[in-house]
Amino acid sequence: MKFSHLYYTRCPPVCKKNLTESGFDLSLGRKMWYTRRKQRRREAADMDRNWLEERLRELPVVQYEFFDTAELTFTPRVRMVCETDCARYGTSWACPPAVGTVEECRERCLSYPHALLITTMNEVDDIADLESTLATRAPHEEITRQVNALFHSQGVETYPLSTESCAICRECAYPHGPCRCPEKMFPCVESHGILIVGTAEKLGIEFQPGGNIVTWFSLILYR
Ligand code: SF4
Repeated sequence: MKFSHLYYTRCPPVCKKNLTESGFDLSLGRKMWYTRRKQRRREAADMDRNWLEERLRELPVVQYEFFDTAELTFTPRVRMVCETDCARYGTSWACPPAVGTVEECRERCLSYPHALLITTMNEVDDIADLESTLATRAPHEEITRQVNALFHSQGVETYPLSTESCAICRECAYPHGPCRCPEKMFPCVESHGILIVGTAEKLGIEFQPGGNIVTWFSLILYR
Protein backbone atom coordinates (compact mmCIF):
# COMPACT_ATOMS: atom_id res chain seq x y z
CA MET A 1 0.00 0.00 0.00
CA LYS A 2 1.44 3.35 -0.98
CA PHE A 3 2.11 5.86 1.76
CA SER A 4 -0.07 8.49 0.05
CA HIS A 5 -2.97 6.06 -0.11
CA LEU A 6 -2.57 5.26 3.58
CA TYR A 7 -2.38 8.93 4.39
CA TYR A 8 -5.53 9.93 2.57
CA THR A 9 -7.74 7.02 3.46
CA ARG A 10 -6.83 6.23 7.08
CA CYS A 11 -5.91 9.53 8.72
CA PRO A 12 -8.20 12.06 10.35
CA PRO A 13 -8.31 15.56 8.84
CA VAL A 14 -4.91 17.23 9.13
CA CYS A 15 -4.64 19.87 11.85
CA LYS A 16 -2.52 22.77 10.56
CA LYS A 17 -0.59 23.19 13.81
CA ASN A 18 0.77 19.64 13.37
CA LEU A 19 2.29 20.44 9.96
CA THR A 20 5.99 21.17 9.57
CA GLU A 21 7.18 23.81 7.08
CA SER A 22 7.67 21.11 4.48
CA GLY A 23 4.07 19.95 5.01
CA PHE A 24 4.80 16.76 6.97
CA ASP A 25 2.08 15.94 9.50
CA LEU A 26 3.79 15.46 12.90
CA SER A 27 0.77 13.69 14.42
CA LEU A 28 1.00 11.11 11.63
CA GLY A 29 4.74 10.71 12.36
CA ARG A 30 4.04 10.10 16.03
CA LYS A 31 1.33 7.60 15.19
CA MET A 32 3.70 5.70 12.88
CA TRP A 33 6.42 5.69 15.55
CA TYR A 34 4.05 4.25 18.16
CA THR A 35 2.81 1.61 15.70
CA ARG A 36 6.39 0.60 14.81
CA ARG A 37 7.35 0.46 18.50
CA LYS A 38 4.33 -1.73 19.21
CA GLN A 39 5.26 -4.04 16.31
CA ARG A 40 8.89 -4.25 17.47
CA ARG A 41 7.78 -5.20 21.00
CA ARG A 42 5.41 -7.86 19.66
CA GLU A 43 8.13 -9.26 17.37
CA ALA A 44 10.65 -9.31 20.23
CA ALA A 45 8.16 -11.10 22.44
CA ASP A 46 7.16 -13.57 19.72
CA MET A 47 10.75 -14.25 18.79
CA ASP A 48 11.44 -15.89 22.16
CA ARG A 49 8.27 -17.96 22.27
CA ASN A 50 9.59 -21.30 20.92
CA TRP A 51 12.66 -21.28 23.11
CA LEU A 52 10.60 -20.29 26.12
CA GLU A 53 8.00 -23.02 25.53
CA GLU A 54 10.75 -25.64 25.34
CA ARG A 55 12.07 -24.44 28.73
CA LEU A 56 8.52 -24.37 30.19
CA ARG A 57 8.05 -28.00 29.22
CA GLU A 58 11.18 -28.87 31.19
CA LEU A 59 9.65 -27.40 34.37
CA PRO A 60 6.85 -28.90 36.47
CA VAL A 61 4.38 -26.42 34.99
CA VAL A 62 1.07 -28.20 34.42
CA GLN A 63 -0.54 -25.73 32.01
CA TYR A 64 0.43 -22.46 30.43
CA GLU A 65 -1.18 -20.01 28.04
CA PHE A 66 0.07 -16.87 26.33
CA PHE A 67 -2.49 -14.13 25.80
CA ASP A 68 -2.89 -10.34 25.65
CA THR A 69 -2.92 -8.54 29.00
CA ALA A 70 -5.92 -6.57 27.71
CA GLU A 71 -7.97 -9.77 28.10
CA LEU A 72 -7.62 -9.70 31.89
CA THR A 73 -10.62 -8.62 33.95
CA PHE A 74 -9.93 -6.11 36.73
CA THR A 75 -12.66 -5.56 39.28
CA PRO A 76 -12.89 -3.86 42.68
CA ARG A 77 -14.93 -6.91 43.81
CA VAL A 78 -11.72 -8.96 43.99
CA ARG A 79 -10.01 -6.19 45.93
CA MET A 80 -12.96 -6.18 48.32
CA VAL A 81 -12.17 -9.81 49.24
CA CYS A 82 -8.61 -8.73 50.15
CA GLU A 83 -9.98 -5.98 52.35
CA THR A 84 -12.58 -8.03 54.12
CA ASP A 85 -11.26 -11.61 54.18
CA CYS A 86 -7.46 -11.50 54.20
CA ALA A 87 -5.36 -11.07 57.32
CA ARG A 88 -2.45 -9.80 55.19
CA TYR A 89 -4.35 -6.73 53.99
CA GLY A 90 -2.36 -3.63 54.92
CA THR A 91 0.63 -5.62 56.21
CA SER A 92 2.82 -6.12 53.11
CA TRP A 93 4.27 -4.29 50.11
CA ALA A 94 2.85 -7.16 48.03
CA CYS A 95 -0.75 -6.46 49.05
CA PRO A 96 -3.25 -3.64 49.01
CA PRO A 97 -3.27 -0.82 49.76
CA ALA A 98 0.52 -0.72 49.14
CA VAL A 99 0.15 -1.93 45.52
CA GLY A 100 -2.08 1.05 44.65
CA THR A 101 -5.71 1.34 43.63
CA VAL A 102 -7.23 -1.22 41.27
CA GLU A 103 -7.15 1.42 38.52
CA GLU A 104 -3.44 2.10 39.13
CA CYS A 105 -2.74 -1.64 39.14
CA ARG A 106 -4.70 -2.03 35.89
CA GLU A 107 -2.71 0.74 34.20
CA ARG A 108 0.57 -0.74 35.40
CA CYS A 109 -0.41 -4.20 34.13
CA LEU A 110 -1.60 -2.91 30.76
CA SER A 111 1.77 -1.23 30.21
CA TYR A 112 3.00 -4.84 29.75
CA PRO A 113 0.94 -5.90 26.70
CA HIS A 114 1.72 -9.63 26.81
CA ALA A 115 0.86 -12.19 29.46
CA LEU A 116 1.74 -15.76 30.35
CA LEU A 117 -0.43 -17.70 32.77
CA ILE A 118 1.11 -20.77 34.40
CA THR A 119 -0.33 -23.30 36.79
CA THR A 120 1.23 -25.92 39.04
CA MET A 121 -0.62 -28.70 40.84
CA ASN A 122 0.21 -30.70 43.94
CA GLU A 123 -1.62 -33.50 45.66
CA VAL A 124 -2.04 -33.21 49.43
CA ASP A 125 -3.49 -35.67 51.96
CA ASP A 126 -6.42 -33.43 52.77
CA ILE A 127 -7.22 -30.30 50.78
CA ALA A 128 -9.23 -28.97 53.72
CA ASP A 129 -6.04 -28.88 55.79
CA LEU A 130 -4.85 -25.32 55.22
CA GLU A 131 -1.36 -25.98 56.53
CA SER A 132 -0.57 -28.78 54.09
CA THR A 133 -2.24 -26.86 51.26
CA LEU A 134 -0.12 -23.77 51.92
CA ALA A 135 3.01 -25.92 52.12
CA THR A 136 2.71 -26.48 48.36
CA ARG A 137 2.97 -22.76 47.72
CA ALA A 138 6.76 -22.37 48.13
CA PRO A 139 7.61 -24.77 45.25
CA HIS A 140 5.14 -22.88 43.04
CA GLU A 141 6.83 -19.59 43.90
CA GLU A 142 10.19 -21.11 43.01
CA ILE A 143 8.87 -22.22 39.61
CA THR A 144 7.45 -18.72 39.04
CA ARG A 145 10.89 -17.32 39.86
CA GLN A 146 12.50 -19.67 37.34
CA VAL A 147 10.00 -18.77 34.60
CA ASN A 148 10.53 -15.08 35.32
CA ALA A 149 14.30 -15.61 35.01
CA LEU A 150 13.78 -17.27 31.61
CA PHE A 151 12.19 -14.06 30.32
CA HIS A 152 15.00 -11.97 31.78
CA SER A 153 17.64 -14.15 30.17
CA GLN A 154 16.08 -13.11 26.83
CA GLY A 155 16.20 -9.41 27.72
CA VAL A 156 12.42 -9.23 28.20
CA GLU A 157 11.05 -6.92 30.89
CA THR A 158 8.49 -8.56 33.19
CA TYR A 159 5.93 -7.74 35.84
CA PRO A 160 5.27 -11.02 37.68
CA LEU A 161 2.23 -11.58 39.87
CA SER A 162 1.90 -14.67 41.98
CA THR A 163 0.17 -16.21 44.97
CA GLU A 164 -0.88 -14.94 48.36
CA SER A 165 1.30 -12.39 50.11
CA CYS A 166 5.08 -12.08 49.91
CA ALA A 167 6.87 -14.29 52.44
CA ILE A 168 10.49 -13.46 51.69
CA CYS A 169 11.18 -11.63 54.97
CA ARG A 170 10.22 -12.93 58.36
CA GLU A 171 8.59 -9.56 58.94
CA CYS A 172 7.64 -7.26 56.07
CA ALA A 173 9.18 -3.79 56.09
CA TYR A 174 5.76 -2.31 55.29
CA PRO A 175 4.82 0.41 56.15
CA HIS A 176 7.87 1.80 57.97
CA GLY A 177 10.54 1.16 55.34
CA PRO A 178 10.85 0.33 51.64
CA CYS A 179 10.60 -3.24 50.36
CA ARG A 180 13.92 -5.04 51.01
CA CYS A 181 13.84 -7.11 47.81
CA PRO A 182 11.66 -5.35 45.22
CA GLU A 183 13.25 -7.35 42.40
CA LYS A 184 12.34 -10.67 44.04
CA MET A 185 8.95 -9.75 45.48
CA PHE A 186 5.89 -10.86 43.46
CA PRO A 187 2.66 -9.06 44.34
CA CYS A 188 -0.39 -11.25 44.62
CA VAL A 189 -2.56 -11.62 41.46
CA GLU A 190 -5.73 -10.84 43.41
CA SER A 191 -4.15 -7.76 45.01
CA HIS A 192 -4.41 -6.14 41.57
CA GLY A 193 -8.14 -6.82 41.35
CA ILE A 194 -7.60 -9.51 38.69
CA LEU A 195 -10.34 -12.09 38.32
CA ILE A 196 -7.93 -14.92 37.53
CA VAL A 197 -10.51 -17.70 37.58
CA GLY A 198 -12.47 -15.96 34.81
CA THR A 199 -9.30 -15.67 32.72
CA ALA A 200 -8.41 -19.32 33.31
CA GLU A 201 -11.90 -20.41 32.22
CA LYS A 202 -11.69 -18.23 29.11
CA LEU A 203 -8.33 -19.76 28.23
CA GLY A 204 -9.60 -23.30 28.79
CA ILE A 205 -7.27 -23.95 31.73
CA GLU A 206 -8.38 -26.79 33.98
CA PHE A 207 -7.94 -25.68 37.58
CA GLN A 208 -10.44 -27.83 39.49
CA PRO A 209 -9.33 -31.39 38.83
CA GLY A 210 -11.05 -32.57 42.02
CA GLY A 211 -9.72 -34.77 44.80
CA ASN A 212 -6.98 -33.33 46.96
CA ILE A 213 -5.23 -31.43 44.19
CA VAL A 214 -4.08 -27.89 44.94
CA THR A 215 -3.77 -25.57 41.93
CA TRP A 216 -1.67 -22.39 42.01
CA PHE A 217 -1.64 -19.63 39.38
CA SER A 218 1.01 -17.11 38.41
CA LEU A 219 0.93 -14.40 35.79
CA ILE A 220 4.03 -13.10 34.09
CA LEU A 221 3.23 -9.86 32.26
CA TYR A 222 5.92 -8.83 29.84
CA ARG A 223 7.08 -6.37 27.17
S1 SF4 B 1 10.51 -8.70 50.23
FE1 SF4 B 1 10.25 -8.38 52.44
S2 SF4 B 1 9.80 -6.16 52.56
FE2 SF4 B 1 9.42 -6.74 50.44
S3 SF4 B 1 7.24 -7.26 50.35
FE3 SF4 B 1 8.37 -9.17 50.73
S4 SF4 B 1 8.30 -9.41 52.93
FE4 SF4 B 1 7.83 -7.24 52.50
